[in-house]
Amino acid sequence: MGSILSGLQAVQSRIGKVADRPVTLIAVSKTCPAEAIREAFVAGQRVFGESYVSEALEKMKDLSDLGIEWHFIGPVQGNKTRAIAENFSWVHGVDREKIARRLSDARPGNLPPLQVCIQVNVSGEESKSGVEPSGVASLAKYVSALPRLRLRGLMAIPEPSEDPSLQRSRFAQLRKLKEDLCGQGFPLDTLSMGMSGDFENAILEGATMVRIGSAIFGNRK
Ligand SMILES: *Cc1c(COP(=O)(O)O)cnc(C)c1O
Repeated sequence: MGSILSGLQAVQSRIGKVADRPVTLIAVSKTCPAEAIREAFVAGQRVFGESYVSEALEKMKDLSDLGIEWHFIGPVQGNKTRAIAENFSWVHGVDREKIARRLSDARPGNLPPLQVCIQVNVSGEESKSGVEPSGVASLAKYVSALPRLRLRGLMAIPEPSEDPSLQRSRFAQLRKLKEDLCGQGFPLDTLSMGMSGDFENAILEGATMVRIGSAIFGNRK
C-alpha cells in the first residue's frame, strides 16, 4: 500500500514545521483494521489511540506481538472502566470523580499507574463531555489522591472550526488552565490537544500530544 507510511510521514513533517520541542503523535486508529495499525507500526509508529473498547480489545489481541502503547481517547463509560484499566497505558477522557475512582480501583497491581488526562470542556457546549473549567482544580485534586492513577495533564476537543484564531484561543485556554494548576502545585506535563483539522494551531499553543487519525489513515467511513 504505502499510503499509511506516506500519511505518517506527511503528518510528522507538518508537526516538525511548527514544533520547537518534542511532540508525541498519537495515531488514532479507531475503525481501522489491525493490519493498518501493523503497517503504521512497521513504519515506526508506537503510540496508538482508540475510542471504542470492544473494537480496541479485538485489535490488541491481533497485535499482541507488537510493543504498542495504547491510549484510550473516547468517552469513558462506567461499565468499561475495568477493561480500560486493564488494557490501556493512558486515558485521555476523565471528566468525573466516579470514573476516576473506578479506573483506579480496577488498575491491576502488576501494572504501573494508569496515566490520566482530565478532559475539559473549553467550548462551553452543552452536550460535550469534559469538566467545566471552573471544576478542573477540584477534579485534579481528587484524581491526584487516587493510588493507581497518575495525573499527567489536560485534554480538550474544541468544537470544529475553520477559524484559526478561534482554534488558537481554545487551545490557549487549555494551556492557561494547565499553567494555573502547575502554579497550584500539580506537577502536570501534558497537554493533549489537536486533531487532523487543527493540530498545527494546537502545537503553536503548547500541545505536547496530538491525536491524529484521518490525516494518517484516511477518512473514516
Ligand atoms: C477520532 C478522534 C481523534 C482523531 O480525529 P481526526 O480528525 O481523524 O484526526 C482525536 N481525538 C479524539 C478524542 C477522537 O475521538
